[in-house]
Amino acid sequence: MVLDIIIMAQFSKEELSFVEDLPKHVEIECPVCLNVLTDPYIVSCCGYNFCGSCFEIVKASINGSCPMCKEKEYQAIPDKKCSRIINGLEVYCSNKEKGCQWKGELKNISTHRNKEKREGECQYEEVKCRYKKCRERKQRRYLKDHEDNKCLQRPFECQYCKIKHTFVSITEYHYDRCRQYPVTCPKKCSSTTMPRYKITENIHINECPLEPVDCVFSWAGCNDKPLRKDVHVHTADTKHMTLLAVACGQLKKENEEMKKEIRENNDKIKEAKKEIEKLRNIPTASLLPIDVTVGGEAVHFYTGACGQHMSARLMLGYNELLEYSFILFAFHEGQFDEYLPKSLKIFGKLTYKAITWPTNRERDVKVDTDVPLLGDTESTYQPLPHDILNGIISCEGTLPQGVIKIELARHMTFMIDTATIYT
Ligand SMILES: [Zn+2]
Ligand SMILES: [Zn+2]
Ligand SMILES: [Zn+2]
Ligand SMILES: [Zn+2]
Ligand SMILES: [Zn+2]
Ligand SMILES: [Zn+2]
Ligand SMILES: [Zn+2]
Repeated sequence: MVLDIIIMAQFSKEELSFVEDLPKHVEIECPVCLNVLTDPYIVSCCGYNFCGSCFEIVKASINGSCPMCKEKEYQAIPDKKCSRIINGLEVYCSNKEKGCQWKGELKNISTHRNKEKREGECQYEEVKCRYKKCRERKQRRYLKDHEDNKCLQRPFECQYCKIKHTFVSITEYHYDRCRQYPVTCPKKCSSTTMPRYKITENIHINECPLEPVDCVFSWAGCNDKPLRKDVHVHTADTKHMTLLAVACGQLKKENEEMKKEIRENNDKIKEAKKEIEKLRNIPTASLLPIDVTVGGEAVHFYTGACGQHMSARLMLGYNELLEYSFILFAFHEGQFDEYLPKSLKIFGKLTYKAITWPTNRERDVKVDTDVPLLGDTESTYQPLPHDILNGIISCEGTLPQGVIKIELARHMTFMIDTATIYT
């Protein structure tokens, strides 16, 4: 009984539908909360009834006087009789209009309806959907169907890509973007569907029969774009013969030009190779001054920066009485010949060694400076093989044409040992 009172929710008189007329001599409404009395108390001053909870509020208020007669001194006790009468009143379920057939004592209606709870006896009671974002209220008999099949906020899985979210976001937002969502070709090439990504990622465009493609003779100048399905018919068009004839003529011409270019390039390569070979065979030649020594090989030199390429060799000649000294000169092809090198006068500094007995014991050295060796190098110019001077064994008799022989001053007791050649 006590438990019943505690869990009993408050109802207004209008909210309840009584099976029989209300007893005229009993006031069932609380003058404070205007609901049907719950856990009624009776006051000693004027005899009115209040809900137990309403009486607590009154007593705790500033003056605490009776809300009906304003008396300050009074007592209040639970009104068991009133309680029994009210709890015994027979009522219909508040959901009678919706179809609930229940009727019973007022004290049991709370349990029957179990307001705001998902579970409860009355199947016509409206309760809130279990999903927070959903604001819908449904009679208990429809709740499961709503939550399982109709609620826009129910958990839902995209059947194409298996992503999970609420029904409304999958169907109204995700389906427009899902890569796997089935779509048909925008060109309507077929009524069968394909996953959306085949369109958005340009996969289908490479196989769609209704897509315009380049003619296979586009290289020959056909700018037509037949549909992929019509390519064979288009290719067979005889107009391509004319295009091909022109294109082949052009290709042939280009081919010949290319061949010619290759031939020319090959010639250039051959020439360059020859040039390289020539440069490889040129002996190292330094700039003047250089030294030539008796018994040594020909020394190559350039007469100056961008000058002529020459070689010189110091040789001895003999007759019965005396040793003669000669300097041989030869011109050679040089790196700067095409720049017409300036002709220069060439001089020598002669270093002598005393002739001693026994030999190899030098006594004295004398130097003759500024001995003119060659005057006009241009008039005697004749390019000769690089090795020509080294091939000469004797200065007597005839020398190869173009070799210049200069006889040097001689002394009885001195032998020319070295000549420093300079300009
Ligand atoms: Zn009173
Ligand atoms: Zn009350
Ligand atoms: Zn009901
Ligand atoms: Zn819902
Ligand atoms: Zn999806
Ligand atoms: Zn298509
Ligand atoms: Zn074509």
